Amino acid sequence: MSIPARTRQEWQALDAQHNLHPFTTFKEIVDKGSRIINRADGVYIYDVDGNRILDGMSGLWCVNIGYGREELVQAAARQMRELPFYNQFFQCSHPPAIELARQLTEITQPHINHVFFTGSGSESNDTVLRMVWRYWSVLGQPERRIVISRKNGYHGSTLGGASLGGFGVVHEQFFGPIPNIVHIGQPYWYGEGADQDPAAFGLARARELEAKILELGPDKVAAFIGEPVQGAGGVIVPPETYWPEIQRICDKYGILLITDEVICGFGRLGSWFGADHYGVKPDLMPIAKGLTSGYIPLGGVLVGDRVAGVLKRDDDEFFHGFTYSGHPVACAVAAENLRILREEKIVEHVRDTAAPYFAERMSELAEHPLVGEVRTRGLMGAIELVRNKATRERFPAEANAAMTCREHCFRNGLVMRAVAQSMIVAPPLVITRAEIDELVDKARRCLDLTA
Ligand code: PLP
Repeated sequence: MSIPARTRQEWQALDAQHNLHPFTTFKEIVDKGSRIINRADGVYIYDVDGNRILDGMSGLWCVNIGYGREELVQAAARQMRELPFYNQFFQCSHPPAIELARQLTEITQPHINHVFFTGSGSESNDTVLRMVWRYWSVLGQPERRIVISRKNGYHGSTLGGASLGGFGVVHEQFFGPIPNIVHIGQPYWYGEGADQDPAAFGLARARELEAKILELGPDKVAAFIGEPVQGAGGVIVPPETYWPEIQRICDKYGILLITDEVICGFGRLGSWFGADHYGVKPDLMPIAKGLTSGYIPLGGVLVGDRVAGVLKRDDDEFFHGFTYSGHPVACAVAAENLRILREEKIVEHVRDTAAPYFAERMSELAEHPLVGEVRTRGLMGAIELVRNKATRERFPAEANAAMTCREHCFRNGLVMRAVAQSMIVAPPLVITRAEIDELVDKARRCLDLTA
């Protein structure tokens, strides 16, 4: 094999010398050293010292079918031998992309019959912006340009994706967001609406969309985008009233509805897509991550008939795409991943077995003195930490309990992520009841160590 065997210390030294990591304070890698993971199986990852760690984050919300599935390796090897690369530019195509596109439209709502492939979730959201703007231009309404998104949403890290995202600190680093993107409030009941009934709060937050459309002028607004459940923002589960009201408002003003399915797609909520779970009918759905269970990079935009119909009658070229749009090896792996999801009924497993058990066991943690709220939806969850349960007082930034808890988790064989004041979990969808028990028991131990 071309990657040599080295000790943890050697890997850490080389990592600090040569490798700049995404979303990392670079000097921390030098000061503290990174965690080196070198193999994985099922729901477990292993570090170079041989420690077994339950991966409560599915890598980065993506390893839906779990690690170590040989069928995906074989699919990649077969495709690499046959056709390792060809592009989809200039009127070319190839069977893996065509077949995957066909199969994807079998699992989507009936009005979604087209796919535009990309290499990642961020590229998918940039593609969404380009499609939205082109759609309204072809319709002769180029002044419809504004895309409304939400504070604390996450849509990727390219300039387009990060602009759609609603993290102020991210915008500050690139003097963004880019023009024609505006943000409204998020449906974060525990943090921002607890003085109200959740249903009323959900409606109020959805109606911020209507107020914003009226403020900007309905003929200026092109689209609304949101994650069905916000992931990276802290697993923000909207009240049940939220999404139906968003749909009503989009319909009323004729604006395009986009559900970002990069995390919620491919079974995370116990349905193929988050839009199915909440009963909404999106015009565009950016996808990535679970599309290949993270085994190889691939993304795409699932395009509804309303948009595809207009784009397909455009006489001009759609000046957008990537060398690796619809990479044949990635498409072959995705098709195999879909086969496994379907034949092993993994989405049904989440809906009927794993998610109810996960919700039940996770809810026990709400009794813990450090925990203000536990919220779950499908196989996503957040444990929100508070200094005072009664008043919901948070920890000060300099004593962030979530960061401390994250360290305890890693030392105790569990990956949970710290987002603001919450601990986040999203395990592989194939997780068993016994593994959910292990996850929750370890989480409780780490909360005890943090308290
Ligand atoms: N959209 C959502 C909802 C995401 O959670 C992410 C990544 O976490 C992205 C887009 C960006 O995907 P990528 O990191 O593949 O570019």
